[in-house]
Amino acid sequence: MAKIAIDLKSGSIKKEDNLIVGIDLGTTNSLVAYIKDGQPEVVRDPDGRSGLVPSLIYFAADQEVIVGDAARSHLVADPGRTIFSVKRLMGKSFSDLADYAHQMGYQIIQDDQDRLVKVRVDDIFFTPIELSALILRELKTRVETELDRKVDKAVITVPAYFNDAQRQATRDAGKLAGLDVLRIVNEPTAASLAYGIGLSRDDSKTIAVYDLGGGTFDISILRIEDGVFEVIATNGDTFLGGDDLDQAIVSHWETRFNLGEHTPSARQALRLEAERAKKVLSTETQFTGQSGNHTLTLSRAELETLIQPLIERTMDCCRAAMKDAGLEKQAVNEVIMVGGSTRIPYVKQTVSAYFGRPVHDELDPDEVVAAGAAIQADILAGNRKDLLLLDITPLSLGIETVGGLMDVIIPRNTKVPCGYARQYTTSVDGQKNLKIGVFQGERDLVANNRKLAEFILSDIPPMPAGIPKLEIRFQLNADGILQVTAKELRSGTSQSIMVKPQYGIDEEEMGRMLLDSIRHAEDDMQQKALAEARNEGNMMVQSAKKFVQQNSSWLTPEEISRIEEHAAELASAIEDESKDTIQARIESLNAFTTPLAHKALEVHVASAMKGQAIK
Ligand code: ADP
Ligand code: MG
Repeated sequence: MAKIAIDLKSGSIKKEDNLIVGIDLGTTNSLVAYIKDGQPEVVRDPDGRSGLVPSLIYFAADQEVIVGDAARSHLVADPGRTIFSVKRLMGKSFSDLADYAHQMGYQIIQDDQDRLVKVRVDDIFFTPIELSALILRELKTRVETELDRKVDKAVITVPAYFNDAQRQATRDAGKLAGLDVLRIVNEPTAASLAYGIGLSRDDSKTIAVYDLGGGTFDISILRIEDGVFEVIATNGDTFLGGDDLDQAIVSHWETRFNLGEHTPSARQALRLEAERAKKVLSTETQFTGQSGNHTLTLSRAELETLIQPLIERTMDCCRAAMKDAGLEKQAVNEVIMVGGSTRIPYVKQTVSAYFGRPVHDELDPDEVVAAGAAIQADILAGNRKDLLLLDITPLSLGIETVGGLMDVIIPRNTKVPCGYARQYTTSVDGQKNLKIGVFQGERDLVANNRKLAEFILSDIPPMPAGIPKLEIRFQLNADGILQVTAKELRSGTSQSIMVKPQYGIDEEEMGRMLLDSIRHAEDDMQQKALAEARNEGNMMVQSAKKFVQQNSSWLTPEEISRIEEHAAELASAIEDESKDTIQARIESLNAFTTPLAHKALEVHVASAMKGQAIK
């Protein structure tokens, strides 16, 4: 296995410049960190106090965009232009969010064109990707200023439960901010790395990561084996966090001190005071504050009573996650606390009591995710050669399918060892042999990839096309040896070969192959679409012929000649280079034959019934 760093813009293969930063793109706060003398270092404010950049964006009337702390005061004064919690919108459609729309001070809209939600500020529409990119750009600028150099590579963390669309949106936001996102890492994985868990090959552990942030709660159960992290269960509540604790304090004060009605800004001031009380009570036992002419007090014991039901909800999530993981509490070897709200002693005690062991709280819970992302970045940069965590396959591995298409079985960047299988079938009736071409590379057509091996699965018992179940299994071991097995599952016929994918490719060549795939991506997509349309067209032509044969008894000569005409037109379109024409002809053939197919079904059913009646 090998790793390489290529500069996607210049096309050069980089060996010397190895700075990759780690970014925690949070719902409430975001941070950027990098490795300095082997240790993660969070980029802090000029005054050195906090590394947290509030995930807030204010669009000033004069077009200026303000990100971070400076945007906070506008939350009350100009809520329609102050965007918070963008992370909740990532990869979501309007209908996903409709229930929460009223909680946002800003306007979200539906855009039919791409179905993803947009945020409206005056007459400008922003995608969540663009908004996240603004936060990422702020972080990029901060780290560039601190280090006095250009930074253009990053690892960004996301919650373990993020789906592909949300991960892709995060990646795109990075790209838009001028960052090559070398990897998207799960937040709990990053937190574990920050604690050094999973950094050595022989670490074998089960870890619980309890993350209580500003607006969200996540519990993740991870299994780490041979330096590979696997998420075995996640649970949580996307609307439960520190903000709710603040709200509980506000409500308590309102009744206790009989505060009555507030103006919006008095209300905001009260919330801020509640948050301050909560924070003070993480280290002290008594709080005294002020709101207008009221003196407000809160003791730690009172706070604990107030938040107990909320924390209990997080524990319900923990129980559910453990149940999903199928684990007993004793099976958890490490419990890690993440998120600002886990500073509260009551939270730590409750979690520790549940798991029956001390929790990890040695590191700053605000910073662990960013610190872990920086460690992951450092590993990717190749600065920690001792680590095997990086063992990934640098190029995709797959087989050739009909039309010369590459069908990827093990995608590039998959950690090894690994094994994947896919099922295929035959395209010709009575097919006895199947040629399996094994390829490596990122292009959609195998002709542009590198052929590693070819073998034949023979002695498949004759069956109609589409009936055999052919399983192709790729097993890649830690030394980079690929074993390919093909098996016909109905008959048990099987063949197997060993391949050494990296043989004969050096880093330069690998870089070139990757770059080619990027340069030709659009071309390839068109060729792939054409090849797919041709495959579909050929299948349609064949099934039209079959249909005529099988139903000649009742089809009218007129119907038969029309089907044949449509099929001939489709067949001639397949010879041409236009996928649109092929698709149009597929559709017209379909449109013509669908009612006939329905009729065929009726005819078959009727004759089957007749058969029964005679008996
Ligand atoms: P996110 O991951 O959602 O971006 P963070 O992990 O940054 O959020 O957590 C922010 C939350 O942590 C806020 O609700 C804040 O009030 C809370 N918090 C920060 N410090 C403390 C503290 N000392 N005690 C209690 N809560 C705290
Ligand atoms: Mg967080």
